[in-house]
Order: sequence, then structure tokens, then C-alpha cells
Amino acid sequence: MSESARQLCDLHIHSNFSDSDADIESIFKQAKEKNLHCIAITDHDTVSGIPLARDCTGRYGVQLIEGLELSAQHQGLEIHVLGYFVDSDSLYLKKQLDSVRDIRRQRMLDMAKALNAIGVEVDIKELLEAIGMAMPTRLHLGLYLLGKGKVATLWEAFKKYLAPGRPAYVAGFKYSVKDAIEVIKKSGGLSFLAHPHMISNQAWVKEFIDFGLDGLEINYSNMSPVKKILYTQMASEHNLLKSGGSDAHGSYKEFTQVGKVTVPYEWVQAMKGRLERKK
Ligand SMILES: [Zn+2]
Ligand SMILES: [Zn+2]
Repeated sequence: MSESARQLCDLHIHSNFSDSDADIESIFKQAKEKNLHCIAITDHDTVSGIPLARDCTGRYGVQLIEGLELSAQHQGLEIHVLGYFVDSDSLYLKKQLDSVRDIRRQRMLDMAKALNAIGVEVDIKELLEAIGMAMPTRLHLGLYLLGKGKVATLWEAFKKYLAPGRPAYVAGFKYSVKDAIEVIKKSGGLSFLAHPHMISNQAWVKEFIDFGLDGLEINYSNMSPVKKILYTQMASEHNLLKSGGSDAHGSYKEFTQVGKVTVPYEWVQAMKGRLERKK
């Protein structure tokens, strides 16, 4: 086995800049403990955690891929597109993500209003204070409901109110899948379809590939071996790169954690090779 096949990487990690309670420093600490060679910080619709991550990468001796996970919408359903090696300092990306933040904030307020309308009281000021600088997500609303004793578990918050089809769910993301791929491309990065096995209409995967994806996420904690083989074949058929990771969300997703799912560093080298050729 080559050196880079043995070096392990976790390329899907969230921090407290989106909907995890893990701070950047603790993520690097865990990565170091697990002897990871490289990690990607991929917060939802934000690169705000990247400056801190840059500070940690040298200190912990763990390579960093500057990334994010963009939310997109396809026929009313939420689709996630991972972006790796984006230029986090680019004004173009900053402008895009600022407007996403505004839309997400408005969505949060609409969901809070929907809850109030059905008699589940939400104090909007208090909710916004709790979110602070993080990118507003449904999880924050779930945590608020949990904290107020309106639900017994986060799972209940989603099942009763916040999941698609439930009374407080509001769709409305800025990008189509095609747009999300474009934004990542214009930011100098590589786009990957996140957790493709979770997409209800599997015919879409092929459609999204045709939009110009660079790769597929094919290592994921609950992906079946059959699906993994299928996406691996698809990747080689369409000359796509491969990725994978834990999708760790600190203590909010107990079934996964930094380093739970890894990919060999060879896959990262293949990404770097493609970026070089694009230059
Ligand atoms: Zn996702
Ligand atoms: Zn994720």
C-alpha cells in the first residue's frame, strides 16, 4: 500500500459556525488524536470558521481543506453540495454567502412565525440571541424548542414541527443545484454531491452529474455497501472524483464523530491534481 493510501482523511465536518456544538479547535484536537492526515471543514453555507481552522492546521499538524456545504433546492427538496478548496477570502463568495445568510435568517423567522401561529410560542429575540454568529439552521429552532421544554428530544422537534411536510417547515433555499455547483466553481473550488444515497429520487443523481459536478461523496456512515459500489461505478464512468467523511456535528449527531468515516489521502491528491489541470 502506498503512503497516501494509508493516510486517512475526514472530508465532511461541521463546527459551531453552523449546526454543530464542536468548536474548530476541538475538531482539530480530535483529528490529531485519531491520527488523521487531513480534514475538511464543511459548514452549511458559511466559511466563517476557516480563519480559525487555518490557525489550527499548523499547530495540530493536520492538513486542512477549506470547504463548505451549500444548500440547494431541487423540486422543493433540499440537496447538499460540498465545495472543497474554495477561496474562502474571495469577495464573490462572501457576497453570495451573505445573501444566503439573509435568506436563512428570514426562513428561520418564517418558521418561528408558523410555530407561533399553531400555539407553540417562540420568542424571536431570544431565538436570534441563541443563534448568535452561527448560520441559522432548523437545528437552532429545534434546540430552542428543546430548551423550552416544548419537545422532549430534538428528533421530536423535527418529527412534529420542522421536517418537510410538518407545520413549521419552510423551504426556500437560494440556489438550484446547478447554481450551487456554479458558485463553488467560481470560487475556485471542486463541487461534490453530498450523501447521494439520501436523495429520494435517485434518477436525479445522474441529472446533477450532468450539471458539472466534480465528484460524489461515496464514503458515508449509513451508506449501504450496494450503494457505495453503485456510486463508485458512476464516478469512474463519468470521470468523477470521490470523497467521504463523518458529517460530524459534535454532540448533536451521536452516531457519528470526527474520524468515524475516512477516505485515503490518495483521493485528496486526485482532487489537487484536477485543480492543477484546471489552472
Ligand atoms: Zn448534508
Ligand atoms: Zn453535512
